[in-house]
Amino acid sequence: MANKIKLGHVHLSGCTGCLVSIADNYLGLMKILDDYADLVYSLTLADVRHIPEMDVALVEGSVCIQDHESVEEIKETRKKAKIVVALGSCSSYGNITRFSRGGQHNQPQHESFLPIGNLIDVDVYIPGCPPSPELIRNVAVMAYLLLEGDENQKELAGK
Ligand code: SF4
Repeated sequence: MANKIKLGHVHLSGCTGCLVSIADNYLGLMKILDDYADLVYSLTLADVRHIPEMDVALVEGSVCIQDHESVEEIKETRKKAKIVVALGSCSSYGNITRFSRGGQHNQPQHESFLPIGNLIDVDVYIPGCPPSPELIRNVAVMAYLLLEGDENQKELAGK
Protein backbone atom coordinates (compact mmCIF):
# COMPACT_ATOMS: atom_id res chain seq x y z
CA MET A 1 0.00 0.00 0.00
CA ALA A 2 1.31 3.44 -0.94
CA ASN A 3 1.38 6.37 1.49
CA LYS A 4 -1.94 7.31 3.02
CA ILE A 5 -2.92 10.94 3.51
CA LYS A 6 -3.55 12.36 6.97
CA LEU A 7 -7.17 13.53 7.05
CA GLY A 8 -8.83 15.78 9.63
CA HIS A 9 -12.42 16.83 10.29
CA VAL A 10 -12.81 20.28 11.85
CA HIS A 11 -16.29 20.99 13.22
CA LEU A 12 -17.33 24.64 13.54
CA SER A 13 -20.86 26.19 13.61
CA GLY A 14 -23.35 24.19 11.55
CA CYS A 15 -26.12 21.67 11.92
CA THR A 16 -23.88 18.55 11.70
CA GLY A 17 -25.58 17.58 8.42
CA CYS A 18 -22.19 17.63 6.72
CA LEU A 19 -20.90 15.21 9.34
CA VAL A 20 -23.83 12.93 8.56
CA SER A 21 -22.87 13.15 4.90
CA ILE A 22 -19.35 11.95 5.77
CA ALA A 23 -20.65 9.22 8.04
CA ASP A 24 -23.24 8.28 5.41
CA ASN A 25 -20.51 7.42 2.97
CA TYR A 26 -21.11 3.73 3.64
CA LEU A 27 -18.43 1.62 2.01
CA GLY A 28 -17.06 4.74 0.35
CA LEU A 29 -15.95 6.12 3.72
CA MET A 30 -14.46 2.80 4.73
CA LYS A 31 -12.66 2.73 1.41
CA ILE A 32 -11.21 6.21 2.05
CA LEU A 33 -10.06 5.29 5.52
CA ASP A 34 -8.73 1.87 4.59
CA ASP A 35 -7.03 2.65 1.31
CA TYR A 36 -6.36 6.36 1.02
CA ALA A 37 -6.42 8.11 4.38
CA ASP A 38 -5.93 7.94 8.11
CA LEU A 39 -8.28 10.04 10.21
CA VAL A 40 -5.89 11.94 12.49
CA TYR A 41 -8.14 14.69 13.85
CA SER A 42 -11.82 14.86 14.75
CA LEU A 43 -13.58 15.78 17.95
CA THR A 44 -16.71 13.91 16.92
CA LEU A 45 -15.45 10.97 14.86
CA ALA A 46 -12.22 10.16 16.68
CA ASP A 47 -12.18 12.22 19.94
CA VAL A 48 -8.79 13.75 19.12
CA ARG A 49 -8.44 17.09 20.92
CA HIS A 50 -5.27 18.71 19.60
CA ILE A 51 -4.86 19.68 15.95
CA PRO A 52 -1.95 17.73 14.44
CA GLU A 53 -0.11 18.24 11.15
CA MET A 54 -2.55 17.14 8.42
CA ASP A 55 -2.52 16.67 4.68
CA VAL A 56 -6.20 17.54 4.27
CA ALA A 57 -8.57 19.31 6.66
CA LEU A 58 -12.29 19.02 5.93
CA VAL A 59 -13.83 22.05 7.66
CA GLU A 60 -17.54 21.89 8.41
CA GLY A 61 -19.53 24.94 9.53
CA SER A 62 -18.94 28.66 9.64
CA VAL A 63 -16.78 30.64 12.04
CA CYS A 64 -18.49 32.55 14.84
CA ILE A 65 -16.28 35.59 15.24
CA GLN A 66 -17.59 36.12 18.76
CA ASP A 67 -16.22 32.71 19.71
CA HIS A 68 -12.49 33.11 20.32
CA GLU A 69 -11.88 29.33 20.29
CA SER A 70 -13.44 28.92 16.83
CA VAL A 71 -11.32 31.73 15.41
CA GLU A 72 -8.18 30.17 16.89
CA GLU A 73 -9.17 26.70 15.67
CA ILE A 74 -9.56 27.76 12.04
CA LYS A 75 -6.26 29.69 12.09
CA GLU A 76 -4.47 26.70 13.65
CA THR A 77 -6.04 24.44 11.03
CA ARG A 78 -4.61 26.61 8.26
CA LYS A 79 -1.15 26.40 9.82
CA LYS A 80 -1.29 22.60 10.22
CA ALA A 81 -3.01 21.48 6.98
CA LYS A 82 -1.51 21.36 3.51
CA ILE A 83 -4.96 21.50 1.92
CA VAL A 84 -7.95 23.17 3.58
CA VAL A 85 -11.35 22.16 2.24
CA ALA A 86 -14.47 24.22 2.95
CA LEU A 87 -16.97 21.39 3.37
CA GLY A 88 -20.57 22.46 2.73
CA SER A 89 -22.38 25.72 2.27
CA CYS A 90 -21.95 26.97 5.86
CA SER A 91 -18.20 26.71 5.55
CA SER A 92 -18.18 28.06 1.98
CA TYR A 93 -20.73 30.88 2.27
CA GLY A 94 -21.45 31.47 5.95
CA ASN A 95 -24.08 29.99 8.21
CA ILE A 96 -26.66 28.85 5.68
CA THR A 97 -29.42 28.41 8.24
CA ARG A 98 -29.65 32.18 8.69
CA PHE A 99 -31.04 32.49 5.16
CA SER A 100 -33.94 30.11 5.59
CA ARG A 101 -37.25 31.27 7.00
CA GLY A 102 -37.36 28.38 9.41
CA GLY A 103 -33.65 28.58 10.15
CA GLN A 104 -32.10 28.92 13.52
CA HIS A 105 -32.35 32.30 15.17
CA ASN A 106 -28.81 32.15 16.34
CA GLN A 107 -27.43 33.86 19.36
CA PRO A 108 -25.11 35.70 18.84
CA GLN A 109 -26.33 37.58 15.79
CA HIS A 110 -26.38 35.91 12.36
CA GLU A 111 -23.84 38.42 11.06
CA SER A 112 -21.29 36.93 13.43
CA PHE A 113 -21.10 33.70 11.40
CA LEU A 114 -18.61 33.98 8.55
CA PRO A 115 -17.41 31.66 5.80
CA ILE A 116 -13.97 30.32 6.63
CA GLY A 117 -12.57 32.04 3.53
CA ASN A 118 -13.07 35.38 5.34
CA LEU A 119 -10.41 34.38 7.87
CA ILE A 120 -8.01 32.04 6.07
CA ASP A 121 -6.95 30.96 2.60
CA VAL A 122 -9.06 28.04 1.37
CA ASP A 123 -7.81 25.57 -1.25
CA VAL A 124 -10.99 23.70 -2.19
CA TYR A 125 -14.69 24.54 -1.83
CA ILE A 126 -17.31 21.78 -1.76
CA PRO A 127 -20.68 23.56 -1.66
CA GLY A 128 -23.92 21.77 -0.89
CA CYS A 129 -26.19 21.47 2.09
CA PRO A 130 -24.90 18.91 2.73
CA PRO A 131 -22.44 17.94 -0.02
CA SER A 132 -22.89 14.43 -1.35
CA PRO A 133 -20.79 11.66 0.23
CA GLU A 134 -19.48 10.77 -3.23
CA LEU A 135 -18.13 14.31 -3.71
CA ILE A 136 -16.35 14.19 -0.35
CA ARG A 137 -14.84 10.84 -1.23
CA ASN A 138 -13.66 12.09 -4.62
CA VAL A 139 -11.92 15.08 -3.04
CA ALA A 140 -10.12 12.79 -0.60
CA VAL A 141 -8.98 10.52 -3.45
CA MET A 142 -7.84 13.53 -5.47
CA ALA A 143 -5.77 14.76 -2.50
CA TYR A 144 -4.30 11.28 -2.11
CA LEU A 145 -3.09 11.42 -5.70
CA LEU A 146 -1.88 15.02 -5.58
CA LEU A 147 0.00 14.84 -2.31
CA GLU A 148 1.80 11.55 -2.72
CA GLY A 149 2.44 11.81 -6.45
CA ASP A 150 3.77 9.00 -8.60
CA GLU A 151 3.80 6.29 -5.98
CA ASN A 152 0.08 6.56 -5.23
CA GLN A 153 -0.86 7.00 -8.88
CA LYS A 154 0.88 3.73 -9.75
CA GLU A 155 -0.87 2.05 -6.83
CA LEU A 156 -4.31 3.27 -7.98
CA ALA A 157 -3.65 2.40 -11.63
CA GLY A 158 -2.81 -1.15 -10.55
CA LYS A 159 -6.30 -1.70 -9.02
FE1 SF4 B 1 -25.78 21.74 8.01
FE2 SF4 B 1 -26.02 22.49 5.46
FE3 SF4 B 1 -24.39 23.82 7.10
FE4 SF4 B 1 -23.72 21.35 6.32
S1 SF4 B 1 -23.93 23.16 4.99
S2 SF4 B 1 -23.60 22.16 8.43
S3 SF4 B 1 -25.76 20.38 6.20
S4 SF4 B 1 -26.66 23.70 7.29
